[in-house]
Amino acid sequence: MSDDNSPHTLAAADNDTHHDFWADEIADQVEARNPDEPVVVKGGVSPSGVAHLGNVNEIMRGYFVAEALRNRGHEVRQVFTSDDKDPLRKLPRKLANAEGEIVGLGEVDAGALGRNLGKPYMAIPDPFGDSESYAAHFAALLEADAERLGVEIEMHSNTAMYADGTFDPVVSGVLENAETARAVLSAYQDKVDNKYVPFNPVCSACGKLTETVTDIDLENETVEYVCTDMDVGDNTIEGCGHEGTATFREGKLPWRFEWPAQWQVLGVDFEPFGKDHAEGSWPSGVDIAENVLDIEPPVPMVYEWFTLNGEALSSSAGNIVTVTELLELLEPEIIRYFFALHPKKARNLDLSRLDQLVDDFDRFERAYYEGVEDESVTTFAKAAYPYVVENPTDDRPIRLPYTFAAVLGMVDERELRIKLATDEGHIPEDADEATIEAALARVEKARNWAERMDNAYNYRLQTDLPTVEFEPAVEAALDELADVVESGSNGEQIQAAIYDTARAHNIEISDLFEAGYRLFFDETQGPRLGEFLGELEQEFVVSRLRQQR
Ligand SMILES: [Zn+2]
Repeated sequence: MSDDNSPHTLAAADNDTHHDFWADEIADQVEARNPDEPVVVKGGVSPSGVAHLGNVNEIMRGYFVAEALRNRGHEVRQVFTSDDKDPLRKLPRKLANAEGEIVGLGEVDAGALGRNLGKPYMAIPDPFGDSESYAAHFAALLEADAERLGVEIEMHSNTAMYADGTFDPVVSGVLENAETARAVLSAYQDKVDNKYVPFNPVCSACGKLTETVTDIDLENETVEYVCTDMDVGDNTIEGCGHEGTATFREGKLPWRFEWPAQWQVLGVDFEPFGKDHAEGSWPSGVDIAENVLDIEPPVPMVYEWFTLNGEALSSSAGNIVTVTELLELLEPEIIRYFFALHPKKARNLDLSRLDQLVDDFDRFERAYYEGVEDESVTTFAKAAYPYVVENPTDDRPIRLPYTFAAVLGMVDERELRIKLATDEGHIPEDADEATIEAALARVEKARNWAERMDNAYNYRLQTDLPTVEFEPAVEAALDELADVVESGSNGEQIQAAIYDTARAHNIEISDLFEAGYRLFFDETQGPRLGEFLGELEQEFVVSRLRQQR
Protein backbone atom coordinates (compact mmCIF):
# COMPACT_ATOMS: atom_id res chain seq x y z
CA MET A 1 0.00 0.00 0.00
CA SER A 2 1.19 3.49 -0.70
CA ASP A 3 -0.13 6.90 0.24
CA ASP A 4 -0.36 7.84 -3.39
CA ASN A 5 -3.99 8.65 -4.08
CA SER A 6 -3.70 9.29 -7.78
CA PRO A 7 -6.49 7.31 -9.40
CA HIS A 8 -4.36 5.15 -11.67
CA THR A 9 -2.15 3.49 -9.11
CA LEU A 10 -3.10 -0.01 -8.09
CA ALA A 11 -2.80 1.03 -4.44
CA ALA A 12 -5.70 3.43 -4.83
CA ALA A 13 -7.92 0.54 -5.79
CA ASP A 14 -6.96 -1.19 -2.55
CA ASN A 15 -8.20 1.61 -0.30
CA ASP A 16 -10.74 0.71 2.34
CA THR A 17 -14.18 0.97 0.86
CA HIS A 18 -16.80 3.25 2.22
CA HIS A 19 -19.33 1.73 -0.14
CA ASP A 20 -20.88 -1.66 0.43
CA PHE A 21 -20.36 -2.71 -3.20
CA TRP A 22 -16.88 -2.51 -4.73
CA ALA A 23 -18.24 -1.26 -8.07
CA ASP A 24 -19.41 1.95 -6.38
CA GLU A 25 -15.91 2.38 -5.02
CA ILE A 26 -14.42 2.15 -8.51
CA ALA A 27 -17.12 4.48 -9.83
CA ASP A 28 -15.88 7.09 -7.32
CA GLN A 29 -12.37 6.76 -8.74
CA VAL A 30 -13.63 7.11 -12.30
CA GLU A 31 -15.63 10.21 -11.40
CA ALA A 32 -12.53 11.67 -9.74
CA ARG A 33 -10.94 11.80 -13.22
CA ASN A 34 -13.69 14.12 -14.48
CA PRO A 35 -14.24 11.87 -17.48
CA ASP A 36 -15.72 13.09 -20.74
CA GLU A 37 -19.13 11.69 -21.65
CA PRO A 38 -19.72 8.98 -22.57
CA VAL A 39 -17.52 7.29 -19.98
CA VAL A 40 -15.61 4.35 -21.47
CA VAL A 41 -15.20 1.04 -19.65
CA LYS A 42 -12.98 -1.45 -21.48
CA GLY A 43 -12.22 -5.14 -21.48
CA GLY A 44 -10.04 -7.17 -23.77
CA VAL A 45 -9.83 -10.64 -25.19
CA SER A 46 -7.22 -12.60 -27.04
CA PRO A 47 -9.09 -14.70 -29.57
CA SER A 48 -6.95 -17.73 -28.88
CA GLY A 49 -9.25 -20.72 -28.69
CA VAL A 50 -12.12 -20.91 -26.27
CA ALA A 51 -14.23 -18.21 -24.68
CA HIS A 52 -14.60 -19.55 -21.14
CA LEU A 53 -15.76 -18.43 -17.73
CA GLY A 54 -12.40 -16.75 -17.03
CA ASN A 55 -13.16 -14.24 -19.79
CA VAL A 56 -16.41 -13.42 -18.00
CA ASN A 57 -14.33 -11.60 -15.37
CA GLU A 58 -13.66 -8.97 -18.04
CA ILE A 59 -17.31 -8.76 -19.02
CA MET A 60 -18.97 -8.71 -15.61
CA ARG A 61 -16.40 -6.73 -13.60
CA GLY A 62 -16.58 -3.96 -16.17
CA TYR A 63 -20.36 -4.24 -16.37
CA PHE A 64 -20.95 -3.64 -12.67
CA VAL A 65 -18.80 -0.51 -12.76
CA ALA A 66 -20.56 0.66 -15.93
CA GLU A 67 -23.92 0.17 -14.22
CA ALA A 68 -22.79 1.99 -11.08
CA LEU A 69 -21.80 4.94 -13.28
CA ARG A 70 -25.08 4.80 -15.22
CA ASN A 71 -26.93 4.93 -11.89
CA ARG A 72 -25.17 8.22 -11.25
CA GLY A 73 -26.42 9.64 -14.51
CA HIS A 74 -23.41 9.01 -16.73
CA GLU A 75 -23.64 7.72 -20.23
CA VAL A 76 -21.34 4.69 -20.44
CA ARG A 77 -19.94 2.64 -23.31
CA GLN A 78 -18.67 -0.81 -22.41
CA VAL A 79 -16.11 -1.58 -25.10
CA PHE A 80 -14.14 -4.73 -25.73
CA THR A 81 -11.03 -5.00 -27.83
CA SER A 82 -10.26 -8.21 -29.67
CA ASP A 83 -6.49 -8.55 -29.95
CA ASP A 84 -6.95 -10.11 -33.32
CA LYS A 85 -3.82 -8.77 -34.99
CA ASP A 86 -1.70 -10.84 -32.59
CA PRO A 87 -0.08 -13.88 -34.16
CA LEU A 88 -1.27 -17.43 -33.55
CA ARG A 89 1.70 -18.60 -31.49
CA LYS A 90 0.78 -22.22 -30.91
CA LEU A 91 -2.06 -24.55 -31.73
CA PRO A 92 -4.78 -24.58 -29.09
CA ARG A 93 -5.66 -28.01 -27.67
CA LYS A 94 -9.34 -27.16 -27.46
CA LEU A 95 -11.63 -24.94 -29.48
CA ALA A 96 -15.20 -23.86 -29.04
CA ASN A 97 -17.66 -24.16 -31.91
CA ALA A 98 -20.22 -21.49 -32.81
CA GLU A 99 -22.62 -22.88 -30.19
CA GLY A 100 -19.96 -22.41 -27.50
CA GLU A 101 -19.40 -26.16 -27.12
CA ILE A 102 -15.84 -27.32 -26.55
CA VAL A 103 -14.34 -29.61 -29.15
CA GLY A 104 -10.90 -31.12 -29.55
CA LEU A 105 -8.46 -30.05 -32.22
CA GLY A 106 -9.13 -33.36 -33.98
CA GLU A 107 -12.55 -32.12 -35.05
CA VAL A 108 -11.19 -29.33 -37.23
CA ASP A 109 -8.56 -29.12 -39.94
CA ALA A 110 -5.59 -28.84 -37.58
CA GLY A 111 -3.12 -29.04 -40.45
CA ALA A 112 -4.56 -25.92 -42.03
CA LEU A 113 -4.37 -24.22 -38.67
CA GLY A 114 -0.74 -25.29 -38.25
CA ARG A 115 0.26 -23.67 -41.53
CA ASN A 116 -1.04 -20.38 -40.13
CA LEU A 117 1.26 -20.19 -37.11
CA GLY A 118 2.76 -16.71 -36.87
CA LYS A 119 -0.05 -15.08 -38.84
CA PRO A 120 -2.50 -12.63 -37.25
CA TYR A 121 -5.67 -14.29 -35.98
CA MET A 122 -7.73 -12.11 -38.28
CA ALA A 123 -5.85 -13.48 -41.31
CA ILE A 124 -6.58 -17.11 -40.41
CA PRO A 125 -9.71 -18.83 -41.69
CA ASP A 126 -12.34 -19.84 -39.11
CA PRO A 127 -11.59 -23.52 -38.40
CA PHE A 128 -15.36 -24.10 -38.27
CA GLY A 129 -15.98 -22.29 -41.54
CA ASP A 130 -18.78 -20.10 -40.15
CA SER A 131 -17.18 -16.72 -39.59
CA GLU A 132 -14.90 -14.60 -41.77
CA SER A 133 -11.85 -15.52 -39.68
CA TYR A 134 -10.52 -17.38 -36.66
CA ALA A 135 -10.58 -14.11 -34.71
CA ALA A 136 -14.10 -13.18 -35.77
CA HIS A 137 -15.31 -16.61 -34.66
CA PHE A 138 -13.96 -16.15 -31.14
CA ALA A 139 -15.03 -12.52 -30.87
CA ALA A 140 -18.55 -13.66 -31.74
CA LEU A 141 -18.39 -16.30 -28.99
CA LEU A 142 -17.49 -13.69 -26.39
CA GLU A 143 -20.21 -11.35 -27.60
CA ALA A 144 -22.71 -14.19 -27.37
CA ASP A 145 -21.58 -14.98 -23.81
CA ALA A 146 -22.05 -11.35 -22.82
CA GLU A 147 -25.53 -11.38 -24.31
CA ARG A 148 -26.41 -14.60 -22.49
CA LEU A 149 -25.51 -12.85 -19.25
CA GLY A 150 -27.55 -9.78 -20.15
CA VAL A 151 -24.60 -7.49 -20.90
CA GLU A 152 -24.34 -5.32 -23.98
CA ILE A 153 -20.78 -4.84 -25.21
CA GLU A 154 -19.24 -3.03 -28.16
CA MET A 155 -16.59 -5.17 -29.84
CA HIS A 156 -13.62 -3.44 -31.47
CA SER A 157 -11.24 -5.34 -33.71
CA ASN A 158 -7.63 -4.20 -33.47
CA THR A 159 -7.15 -5.25 -37.08
CA ALA A 160 -9.97 -2.94 -38.13
CA MET A 161 -8.56 -0.08 -36.08
CA TYR A 162 -5.19 -0.40 -37.80
CA ALA A 163 -6.79 -0.76 -41.25
CA ASP A 164 -9.04 2.29 -40.97
CA GLY A 165 -6.25 4.50 -39.62
CA THR A 166 -7.58 4.82 -36.04
CA PHE A 167 -4.16 3.82 -34.72
CA ASP A 168 -2.17 5.96 -37.24
CA PRO A 169 -1.48 8.90 -34.89
CA VAL A 170 -0.34 6.59 -32.08
CA VAL A 171 1.95 4.52 -34.33
CA SER A 172 3.45 7.75 -35.71
CA GLY A 173 3.89 9.13 -32.20
CA VAL A 174 5.54 5.99 -30.87
CA LEU A 175 7.92 5.65 -33.84
CA GLU A 176 8.74 9.35 -33.74
CA ASN A 177 9.73 8.86 -30.11
CA ALA A 178 11.30 5.46 -30.69
CA GLU A 179 14.30 6.40 -28.53
CA THR A 180 12.11 7.27 -25.55
CA ALA A 181 9.87 4.25 -26.21
CA ARG A 182 12.93 1.99 -26.17
CA ALA A 183 14.29 3.58 -22.99
CA VAL A 184 10.96 3.26 -21.18
CA LEU A 185 10.32 -0.35 -22.18
CA SER A 186 13.87 -1.50 -21.48
CA ALA A 187 13.16 -1.02 -17.77
CA TYR A 188 10.58 -3.80 -18.09
CA GLN A 189 11.86 -6.15 -20.79
CA ASP A 190 15.39 -7.52 -21.11
CA LYS A 191 15.04 -8.24 -24.82
CA VAL A 192 14.82 -4.52 -25.61
CA ASP A 193 18.20 -3.55 -27.08
CA ASN A 194 19.31 -0.52 -29.07
CA LYS A 195 17.96 -2.07 -32.30
CA TYR A 196 14.48 -2.57 -30.87
CA VAL A 197 11.72 -0.89 -32.87
CA PRO A 198 8.22 -0.87 -31.34
CA PHE A 199 6.46 -1.99 -34.49
CA ASN A 200 5.79 -5.46 -35.98
CA PRO A 201 5.02 -5.45 -39.71
CA VAL A 202 3.10 -8.21 -41.43
CA CYS A 203 5.35 -9.76 -44.08
CA SER A 204 3.86 -9.17 -47.52
CA ALA A 205 5.36 -12.44 -48.79
CA CYS A 206 4.34 -14.99 -46.14
CA GLY A 207 1.71 -13.13 -44.11
CA LYS A 208 3.45 -13.68 -40.77
CA LEU A 209 4.22 -10.98 -38.24
CA THR A 210 7.86 -10.11 -38.01
CA GLU A 211 9.91 -8.28 -35.40
CA THR A 212 12.87 -7.04 -37.42
CA VAL A 213 12.41 -3.44 -38.56
CA THR A 214 15.51 -1.99 -40.26
CA ASP A 215 14.36 1.54 -41.08
CA ILE A 216 11.54 3.96 -40.29
CA ASP A 217 10.20 6.58 -42.73
CA LEU A 218 8.04 8.89 -40.63
CA GLU A 219 7.10 11.13 -43.55
CA ASN A 220 5.73 8.34 -45.72
CA GLU A 221 4.51 6.38 -42.69
CA THR A 222 6.34 3.21 -43.70
CA VAL A 223 8.98 0.87 -42.29
CA GLU A 224 11.55 -1.41 -43.92
CA TYR A 225 11.70 -4.94 -42.52
CA VAL A 226 13.28 -8.36 -42.86
CA CYS A 227 11.07 -11.41 -42.25
CA THR A 228 13.14 -13.19 -39.57
CA ASP A 229 12.42 -16.08 -37.20
CA MET A 230 10.24 -15.40 -34.19
CA ASP A 231 10.88 -17.12 -30.85
CA VAL A 232 7.69 -18.26 -29.21
CA GLY A 233 8.33 -19.93 -25.89
CA ASP A 234 10.27 -23.08 -26.69
CA ASN A 235 9.40 -22.96 -30.38
CA THR A 236 10.55 -20.90 -33.29
CA ILE A 237 8.22 -19.72 -36.02
CA GLU A 238 10.35 -19.48 -39.13
CA GLY A 239 10.46 -16.25 -41.11
CA CYS A 240 10.70 -16.38 -44.91
CA GLY A 241 13.63 -13.95 -45.24
CA HIS A 242 11.66 -11.51 -47.38
CA GLU A 243 12.81 -7.88 -47.27
CA GLY A 244 10.04 -5.38 -47.82
CA THR A 245 8.25 -2.17 -46.97
CA ALA A 246 5.11 -1.95 -44.84
CA THR A 247 2.85 1.01 -44.07
CA PHE A 248 1.85 1.85 -40.52
CA ARG A 249 -1.45 0.13 -41.26
CA GLU A 250 0.26 -3.07 -42.41
CA GLY A 251 1.59 -4.09 -39.02
CA LYS A 252 0.95 -3.59 -35.36
CA LEU A 253 2.37 -2.15 -32.19
CA PRO A 254 3.81 -4.73 -29.79
CA TRP A 255 1.32 -5.54 -27.00
CA ARG A 256 3.12 -3.41 -24.41
CA PHE A 257 2.43 -0.37 -26.63
CA GLU A 258 -0.81 -1.54 -28.14
CA TRP A 259 -2.64 -1.67 -24.82
CA PRO A 260 -1.94 1.99 -23.94
CA ALA A 261 -2.65 2.84 -27.60
CA GLN A 262 -6.13 1.37 -27.13
CA TRP A 263 -6.62 3.57 -24.05
CA GLN A 264 -5.74 6.58 -26.17
CA VAL A 265 -7.84 5.93 -29.27
CA LEU A 266 -10.88 4.66 -27.35
CA GLY A 267 -10.59 7.21 -24.51
CA VAL A 268 -10.67 4.50 -21.84
CA ASP A 269 -11.57 5.59 -18.29
CA PHE A 270 -11.63 2.22 -16.54
CA GLU A 271 -10.29 -1.24 -17.25
CA PRO A 272 -10.29 -4.36 -15.06
CA PHE A 273 -7.58 -6.97 -15.62
CA GLY A 274 -6.15 -10.15 -14.14
CA LYS A 275 -3.14 -10.49 -11.90
CA ASP A 276 -0.90 -11.51 -14.81
CA HIS A 277 -1.23 -8.03 -16.32
CA ALA A 278 -0.84 -6.37 -12.93
CA GLU A 279 2.71 -7.62 -12.68
CA GLY A 280 3.53 -7.37 -16.38
CA SER A 281 2.04 -4.97 -18.85
CA TRP A 282 0.17 -2.65 -16.45
CA PRO A 283 3.24 -0.91 -14.93
CA SER A 284 4.91 -0.57 -18.33
CA GLY A 285 1.57 0.53 -19.79
CA VAL A 286 1.27 3.37 -17.26
CA ASP A 287 4.85 4.42 -17.96
CA ILE A 288 4.27 4.36 -21.74
CA ALA A 289 0.94 6.20 -21.42
CA GLU A 290 2.47 8.98 -19.35
CA ASN A 291 5.93 9.27 -20.86
CA VAL A 292 5.52 8.20 -24.48
CA LEU A 293 1.87 8.90 -25.39
CA ASP A 294 1.30 11.70 -22.88
CA ILE A 295 -2.12 10.47 -21.82
CA GLU A 296 -3.65 9.62 -18.47
CA PRO A 297 -3.97 5.86 -17.97
CA PRO A 298 -7.41 4.54 -17.01
CA VAL A 299 -8.49 3.63 -13.49
CA PRO A 300 -7.29 0.06 -13.03
CA MET A 301 -8.76 -2.83 -11.09
CA VAL A 302 -6.96 -6.11 -10.61
CA TYR A 303 -9.16 -9.14 -10.14
CA GLU A 304 -8.06 -12.42 -8.67
CA TRP A 305 -8.33 -15.46 -10.87
CA PHE A 306 -10.77 -18.03 -9.59
CA THR A 307 -9.94 -21.71 -9.69
CA LEU A 308 -12.22 -24.32 -11.18
CA ASN A 309 -12.62 -27.49 -9.11
CA GLY A 310 -9.54 -26.47 -7.15
CA GLU A 311 -7.23 -26.14 -10.18
CA ALA A 312 -6.13 -23.16 -12.26
CA LEU A 313 -8.26 -22.48 -15.31
CA SER A 314 -6.49 -23.92 -18.32
CA SER A 315 -7.75 -24.35 -21.86
CA SER A 316 -4.85 -26.64 -22.74
CA ALA A 317 -5.39 -28.89 -19.70
CA GLY A 318 -9.12 -28.87 -20.41
CA ASN A 319 -9.90 -27.34 -17.00
CA ILE A 320 -12.45 -24.83 -18.25
CA VAL A 321 -16.17 -24.35 -18.28
CA THR A 322 -18.01 -22.20 -20.77
CA VAL A 323 -20.91 -19.87 -20.10
CA THR A 324 -23.10 -22.09 -22.28
CA GLU A 325 -22.28 -25.12 -20.15
CA LEU A 326 -22.78 -23.28 -16.89
CA LEU A 327 -26.13 -21.87 -17.97
CA GLU A 328 -27.37 -25.44 -18.27
CA LEU A 329 -26.69 -25.80 -14.56
CA LEU A 330 -27.43 -22.36 -13.14
CA GLU A 331 -29.72 -19.39 -13.66
CA PRO A 332 -27.85 -16.44 -15.22
CA GLU A 333 -28.31 -14.30 -12.10
CA ILE A 334 -26.23 -16.80 -10.13
CA ILE A 335 -23.33 -16.41 -12.56
CA ARG A 336 -23.72 -12.64 -12.30
CA TYR A 337 -23.72 -12.98 -8.51
CA PHE A 338 -20.45 -14.97 -8.59
CA PHE A 339 -18.76 -12.06 -10.37
CA ALA A 340 -20.36 -9.47 -8.09
CA LEU A 341 -18.43 -10.91 -5.15
CA HIS A 342 -15.31 -9.00 -4.21
CA PRO A 343 -12.74 -9.19 -7.05
CA LYS A 344 -9.79 -9.18 -4.65
CA LYS A 345 -10.70 -12.47 -3.04
CA ALA A 346 -9.51 -15.69 -4.63
CA ARG A 347 -12.40 -18.08 -5.11
CA ASN A 348 -12.95 -21.61 -6.19
CA LEU A 349 -15.84 -22.61 -8.39
CA ASP A 350 -16.47 -26.24 -7.52
CA LEU A 351 -18.92 -27.73 -9.99
CA SER A 352 -19.58 -30.69 -7.71
CA ARG A 353 -20.75 -28.24 -5.00
CA LEU A 354 -22.79 -25.84 -7.09
CA ASP A 355 -25.51 -26.36 -4.49
CA GLN A 356 -23.39 -24.27 -2.09
CA LEU A 357 -23.05 -21.43 -4.60
CA VAL A 358 -26.80 -21.48 -5.20
CA ASP A 359 -27.49 -21.55 -1.45
CA ASP A 360 -25.22 -18.52 -1.07
CA PHE A 361 -27.09 -16.72 -3.82
CA ASP A 362 -30.44 -17.59 -2.23
CA ARG A 363 -29.22 -16.18 1.07
CA PHE A 364 -27.95 -13.05 -0.70
CA GLU A 365 -31.40 -12.66 -2.27
CA ARG A 366 -33.14 -13.19 1.06
CA ALA A 367 -30.78 -10.64 2.61
CA TYR A 368 -31.86 -8.05 0.04
CA TYR A 369 -35.58 -8.57 0.70
CA GLU A 370 -35.70 -9.45 4.38
CA GLY A 371 -32.22 -9.09 5.81
CA VAL A 372 -30.30 -12.02 7.28
CA GLU A 373 -28.48 -12.43 10.56
CA ASP A 374 -25.05 -11.71 9.07
CA GLU A 375 -25.09 -7.92 8.79
CA SER A 376 -22.25 -7.88 6.22
CA VAL A 377 -24.29 -10.08 3.87
CA THR A 378 -27.30 -7.81 4.28
CA THR A 379 -25.45 -4.57 3.58
CA PHE A 380 -23.71 -6.11 0.56
CA ALA A 381 -27.02 -7.47 -0.74
CA LYS A 382 -28.82 -4.15 -0.32
CA ALA A 383 -26.13 -2.47 -2.44
CA ALA A 384 -25.35 -5.18 -4.99
CA TYR A 385 -28.56 -7.15 -5.58
CA PRO A 386 -30.14 -4.56 -7.92
CA TYR A 387 -27.04 -4.92 -10.13
CA VAL A 388 -27.20 -8.70 -10.08
CA VAL A 389 -30.94 -8.92 -10.71
CA GLU A 390 -32.11 -5.99 -12.77
CA ASN A 391 -35.39 -4.41 -11.71
CA PRO A 392 -35.99 -6.61 -8.64
CA THR A 393 -39.61 -7.62 -8.16
CA ASP A 394 -41.55 -6.30 -5.14
CA ASP A 395 -41.72 -9.73 -3.54
CA ARG A 396 -38.87 -12.17 -3.14
CA PRO A 397 -38.92 -14.76 -5.94
CA ILE A 398 -39.91 -18.28 -4.91
CA ARG A 399 -36.79 -20.48 -5.12
CA LEU A 400 -36.48 -24.20 -4.55
CA PRO A 401 -33.31 -25.12 -2.67
CA TYR A 402 -30.93 -26.51 -5.31
CA THR A 403 -30.56 -29.98 -3.76
CA PHE A 404 -34.34 -30.23 -3.34
CA ALA A 405 -34.68 -29.26 -6.99
CA ALA A 406 -32.25 -32.09 -7.74
CA VAL A 407 -34.50 -34.50 -5.84
CA LEU A 408 -37.48 -33.27 -7.89
CA GLY A 409 -35.36 -33.90 -10.97
CA MET A 410 -35.60 -37.61 -10.18
CA VAL A 411 -39.30 -37.56 -10.98
CA ASP A 412 -40.63 -36.78 -14.42
CA GLU A 413 -44.21 -35.75 -13.80
CA ARG A 414 -44.74 -32.06 -13.44
CA GLU A 415 -47.78 -32.51 -11.18
CA LEU A 416 -45.80 -34.72 -8.82
CA ARG A 417 -42.99 -32.17 -8.70
CA ILE A 418 -45.46 -29.45 -7.78
CA LYS A 419 -47.09 -31.61 -5.14
CA LEU A 420 -43.78 -32.54 -3.54
CA ALA A 421 -42.59 -28.92 -3.54
CA THR A 422 -45.89 -27.72 -2.08
CA ASP A 423 -45.95 -30.47 0.59
CA GLU A 424 -42.47 -29.42 1.68
CA GLY A 425 -43.56 -25.78 1.87
CA HIS A 426 -41.19 -24.62 -0.90
CA ILE A 427 -44.08 -23.45 -3.07
CA PRO A 428 -47.03 -21.72 -1.37
CA GLU A 429 -50.42 -23.46 -1.67
CA ASP A 430 -51.92 -20.41 -3.38
CA ALA A 431 -49.07 -19.87 -5.85
CA ASP A 432 -50.18 -18.85 -9.33
CA GLU A 433 -49.12 -20.63 -12.50
CA ALA A 434 -46.34 -18.17 -13.35
CA THR A 435 -44.80 -18.47 -9.88
CA ILE A 436 -44.87 -22.26 -10.08
CA GLU A 437 -43.32 -22.21 -13.53
CA ALA A 438 -40.54 -19.88 -12.40
CA ALA A 439 -39.79 -21.99 -9.34
CA LEU A 440 -39.71 -25.25 -11.32
CA ALA A 441 -37.22 -23.82 -13.82
CA ARG A 442 -34.47 -24.64 -11.35
CA VAL A 443 -35.40 -28.35 -11.44
CA GLU A 444 -34.10 -28.67 -15.01
CA LYS A 445 -30.81 -26.98 -14.03
CA ALA A 446 -30.36 -29.22 -10.98
CA ARG A 447 -31.26 -32.25 -13.08
CA ASN A 448 -28.53 -31.35 -15.59
CA TRP A 449 -26.13 -30.91 -12.70
CA ALA A 450 -26.96 -34.38 -11.34
CA GLU A 451 -26.35 -35.90 -14.76
CA ARG A 452 -23.16 -33.98 -15.46
CA MET A 453 -21.68 -34.76 -12.04
CA ASP A 454 -23.26 -38.22 -11.88
CA ASN A 455 -23.83 -37.50 -8.19
CA ALA A 456 -26.26 -38.77 -5.56
CA TYR A 457 -29.17 -37.15 -7.41
CA ASN A 458 -28.54 -38.82 -10.74
CA TYR A 459 -31.39 -41.30 -10.56
CA ARG A 460 -34.76 -41.54 -12.21
CA LEU A 461 -37.84 -42.60 -10.32
CA GLN A 462 -39.49 -45.47 -12.19
CA THR A 463 -43.16 -44.63 -12.55
CA ASP A 464 -43.98 -48.21 -13.56
CA LEU A 465 -43.05 -51.18 -11.41
CA PRO A 466 -39.78 -52.66 -12.74
CA THR A 467 -39.49 -56.43 -13.22
CA VAL A 468 -38.20 -57.72 -9.89
CA GLU A 469 -37.88 -60.98 -8.01
CA PHE A 470 -36.98 -61.11 -4.33
CA GLU A 471 -36.37 -63.79 -1.67
CA PRO A 472 -39.45 -64.34 0.55
CA ALA A 473 -37.65 -62.79 3.55
CA VAL A 474 -36.90 -59.64 1.55
CA GLU A 475 -40.51 -59.45 0.37
CA ALA A 476 -41.73 -59.74 3.95
CA ALA A 477 -39.36 -56.97 5.04
CA LEU A 478 -40.62 -54.72 2.21
CA ASP A 479 -44.21 -55.35 3.29
CA GLU A 480 -43.38 -54.37 6.84
CA LEU A 481 -41.63 -51.24 5.58
CA ALA A 482 -44.80 -50.41 3.66
CA ASP A 483 -46.71 -50.49 6.96
CA VAL A 484 -44.21 -48.08 8.48
CA VAL A 485 -44.68 -45.65 5.60
CA GLU A 486 -48.46 -46.05 5.74
CA SER A 487 -48.42 -45.10 9.41
CA GLY A 488 -47.20 -41.62 8.36
CA SER A 489 -43.47 -41.85 9.11
CA ASN A 490 -41.15 -39.11 7.88
CA GLY A 491 -37.98 -39.64 5.88
CA GLU A 492 -35.67 -40.05 8.84
CA GLN A 493 -38.01 -42.56 10.45
CA ILE A 494 -38.25 -44.55 7.22
CA GLN A 495 -34.45 -44.57 6.94
CA ALA A 496 -34.20 -45.97 10.51
CA ALA A 497 -36.95 -48.48 9.78
CA ILE A 498 -34.99 -49.92 6.84
CA TYR A 499 -32.24 -50.95 9.26
CA ASP A 500 -34.66 -52.25 11.90
CA THR A 501 -36.73 -54.22 9.41
CA ALA A 502 -33.68 -55.86 7.82
CA ARG A 503 -32.48 -56.98 11.25
CA ALA A 504 -35.94 -58.22 12.27
CA HIS A 505 -36.14 -60.39 9.13
CA ASN A 506 -32.58 -61.56 9.44
CA ILE A 507 -31.45 -60.29 6.04
CA GLU A 508 -28.43 -58.20 5.03
CA ILE A 509 -29.15 -54.48 5.34
CA SER A 510 -27.52 -53.95 1.93
CA ASP A 511 -29.97 -56.47 0.40
CA LEU A 512 -32.95 -54.49 1.63
CA PHE A 513 -31.49 -51.21 0.32
CA GLU A 514 -30.80 -52.85 -3.02
CA ALA A 515 -34.38 -54.14 -3.16
CA GLY A 516 -35.59 -50.58 -2.54
CA TYR A 517 -33.37 -49.15 -5.27
CA ARG A 518 -34.61 -51.84 -7.67
CA LEU A 519 -38.23 -51.00 -6.93
CA PHE A 520 -37.92 -47.23 -7.23
CA PHE A 521 -35.02 -46.65 -9.65
CA ASP A 522 -34.41 -50.05 -11.26
CA GLU A 523 -30.79 -49.67 -10.10
CA THR A 524 -28.67 -51.35 -7.46
CA GLN A 525 -27.78 -48.11 -5.72
CA GLY A 526 -29.26 -44.68 -5.19
CA PRO A 527 -29.69 -41.67 -2.89
CA ARG A 528 -30.45 -41.85 0.84
CA LEU A 529 -33.46 -44.07 0.42
CA GLY A 530 -35.50 -43.32 3.52
CA GLU A 531 -35.30 -39.58 3.08
CA PHE A 532 -36.08 -39.82 -0.60
CA LEU A 533 -39.15 -41.98 0.06
CA GLY A 534 -40.21 -39.47 2.70
CA GLU A 535 -40.37 -36.83 -0.06
CA LEU A 536 -42.66 -38.92 -2.24
CA GLU A 537 -46.39 -39.38 -2.13
CA GLN A 538 -47.20 -41.86 0.64
CA GLU A 539 -49.75 -43.91 -1.34
CA PHE A 540 -47.31 -44.36 -4.22
CA VAL A 541 -44.50 -45.53 -1.92
CA VAL A 542 -46.73 -47.99 -0.08
CA SER A 543 -48.08 -49.69 -3.20
CA ARG A 544 -44.60 -49.82 -4.74
CA LEU A 545 -43.15 -51.48 -1.62
CA ARG A 546 -45.97 -54.02 -1.85
CA GLN A 547 -45.06 -54.51 -5.51
CA GLN A 548 -48.51 -53.53 -6.71
CA ARG A 549 -48.85 -52.26 -10.23
ZN1 LIG B 1 7.76 -13.57 -44.56
